[in-house]
Amino acid sequence: AQNERDSQFIVSDWAKNRYKKLLQESEEGESIGWAYLKERGLNQATIETFELGYSLDKWDDVLTEAQQAGFDVKYLEKTGLVIKREEDGRRYDRFRGRVMFPIHNVSGRVVGFGARTLRRDEKAGAKYLNSPESEIYHKSDVLYGLYQAKQSIRQEELCYLVEGYLDVISLYQGGVKNVVASSGTSLTEGQIRLIARYTDNVTVLYDGDAAGVKAALRGLDIILENGLNVRVVLFPDGDDPDSYIRKVGDARFRKFVEEQSQDFITFKTQLVAREAAQDPVKKAEAIREVLQSIAKVPDPLKRQVFLQQTSMAFHIDEQVLISEYNKLVKQTA
Ligand code: ATP
Ligand code: MN
Ligand code: MN
Ligand code: MN
Repeated sequence: AQNERDSQFIVSDWAKNRYKKLLQESEEGESIGWAYLKERGLNQATIETFELGYSLDKWDDVLTEAQQAGFDVKYLEKTGLVIKREEDGRRYDRFRGRVMFPIHNVSGRVVGFGARTLRRDEKAGAKYLNSPESEIYHKSDVLYGLYQAKQSIRQEELCYLVEGYLDVISLYQGGVKNVVASSGTSLTEGQIRLIARYTDNVTVLYDGDAAGVKAALRGLDIILENGLNVRVVLFPDGDDPDSYIRKVGDARFRKFVEEQSQDFITFKTQLVAREAAQDPVKKAEAIREVLQSIAKVPDPLKRQVFLQQTSMAFHIDEQVLISEYNKLVKQTA
């Protein structure tokens, strides 16, 4: 089994190098892939740091080249680089005509790829394609960018969490290097534990759209449960960290993040309080929702502070709130 895994690591590394070479040296890679990355504001140093590449718009480039290099097609299939069609057994490349984002594990080995289409027409397919799960790629235990970010996460004692590949890369290029993405999947316990190896502090920078707010409200209790401190920054509607840093520049971006970042419980309290407005029934529901989140905080002292804060935010007597909290905890225990 160790050999199986090794072979998958080796073929993934080979593919990464193939895609890099195609981006830097092929006609198509330069005119299409490079042009796209340049348009998105990335420079050569950043492209090298993240080992970005390009897959040719062709059915069998990796299939043919890898076999010529001596790889067993079995490993191409296991890593999902090549797909075998059930009907007739024909094989073809999964990634075609896309910018390639290698996904590294913490020690820097490539375990999979994200791939963005460059087409804007209806034949483009999904905007992003990802490698499937494999023996070397367990999506729930990988954070995009962590390999590049881990040192600075430790130094800054803070990890920024964003939604997308290009958010990670843009921020890194802008000097905000302590940044990772869960890319596509909702946050898992395994991913939180990875972050917790380096810091107790997470600031979530989600897209300024309805989906981003929802994700912030729903997905974040899991970070609290693991004892980390969570802060949240919401971007203006229509912006994500990548588009925003490009719009306002590095310095204003940092300032924005520092000024706008709010403790998660405070953020949630304000949001649900605003929604509930003057409706007493809704308000009671909103309070219970916040209490649910507070119940996830393992540190009793922090819980106490949050309860105080919530009682003030909703103008509810603290003793009443605490007794409500105790009821709720008993129910769910
Ligand atoms: P871009 O700036 O290139 O348009 P983005 O990262 O801002 O990309 P979002 O639509 O905000 O794109 O999605 C955030 C992340 O979710 C992506 O980086 C990607 O990891 C994942 N994702 C988005 N669309 C898809 C998709 N169709 N299939 C799989 N994953 C996706
Ligand atoms: Mn989005
Ligand atoms: Mn984006
Ligand atoms: Mn986005």
